[in-house]
Amino acid sequence: MDYRRLGKTELEVSAISYGAIRLPNISEDEAAECLNLALDLGVNFIDTARGYRDSERKIGLGVGHRRDEYYLATKTKKTDYDGAKEEMETSLNELQMDYIDIYQLHSISNEEAWQTAMSPDGALRAAREAQEEGIVGHVSITVHRSLDVMRKAITCGEFETIMLCYNPVDSENVADILPLAKEHDVGTIIMKALSGGQMAYPMEERQAGLGGPNAIVAGCIRWVLSNPAVDMVIPGMQKVHEVEENLALAKPFVPLSDEEREELRRRLAEFGGTYRYDQQCLRCAYCEPCPEGIAIPEVFTAHQMVESYSDDLKYLGYDLYESLEVEADACIECGVCLERCPAGLEIPRMLEEAQNTLSDRP
Ligand code: SF4
Ligand code: SF4
Repeated sequence: MDYRRLGKTELEVSAISYGAIRLPNISEDEAAECLNLALDLGVNFIDTARGYRDSERKIGLGVGHRRDEYYLATKTKKTDYDGAKEEMETSLNELQMDYIDIYQLHSISNEEAWQTAMSPDGALRAAREAQEEGIVGHVSITVHRSLDVMRKAITCGEFETIMLCYNPVDSENVADILPLAKEHDVGTIIMKALSGGQMAYPMEERQAGLGGPNAIVAGCIRWVLSNPAVDMVIPGMQKVHEVEENLALAKPFVPLSDEEREELRRRLAEFGGTYRYDQQCLRCAYCEPCPEGIAIPEVFTAHQMVESYSDDLKYLGYDLYESLEVEADACIECGVCLERCPAGLEIPRMLEEAQNTLSDRP
């Protein structure tokens, strides 16, 4: 496993680390198996969040006994002081731990959230107090969109790392931000390297080469890590083979050659479509659970596949949609998901569009 210095935290972290966002999808035993395997293969950093439902508890149960082998990062989505303090206590209880290496303000993705979090009664004060008490090692931030907030977060001097979305189909804006982080010695942690998992779908005949059984996954991870301004990537993993295949890419890490970069570009072009903040679902699942049981990110994944894949591959989107238990037209427009979505998507309207397309299989 290759290790990289995580900015001013001075932590030496595994270049490919464990994103725990998918742990709620699997059992405690399966989570323990994946996490322990990752540690055995050299991972020394696990990233979770209060918002990833029971993932903190599964980490505590699965690898709590190996706590000295990894750095742990978690997050709060609360932007106010009281809320952040309460969530931190909940995280420590769920994890059954008394120390968090990196505590992150989660998804500070617009000016309003930034102003609240940074105010005297904001979440930053709660994180700093915990740091003074020795509960938290480093204070950090995650930003899903808003390049302005990213710039402020990097230059204000309050945060030791920043977590950003970065992948080959949505790169140009964040690519400008990464060197700024380097300049200020802010560690860079990359999420959504696979565009929220949408590029992880198997396409048998298209999956040879580029360093792993799934060429797109391997290519995207290698593409991200080939940028020298990236310190770490944290793909979400929920299967043993995903852990094995992903971690093999950093053993040791080999940057993409020009030919491989071109090959990846060509294969991604076959998927078509684009991935843009404010327009496309990030597959973060923060909108869940929907009280009507709609699997919102999966609906959007299926819709995006049908809209953008070539004709011979559109069946993947229809098949995915038909595998879901609840159709998109079950939406009653209650608005619960709207408050949670970091991309600010008009979810009910988009669900209606998805339903129109996906229920009309040719
Ligand atoms: S608005 Fe629709 S999709 Fe969103 S939570 Fe309510 S019912 Fe679910
Ligand atoms: S709809 Fe919004 S909250 Fe839900 S998965 Fe997509 S980006 Fe995330």
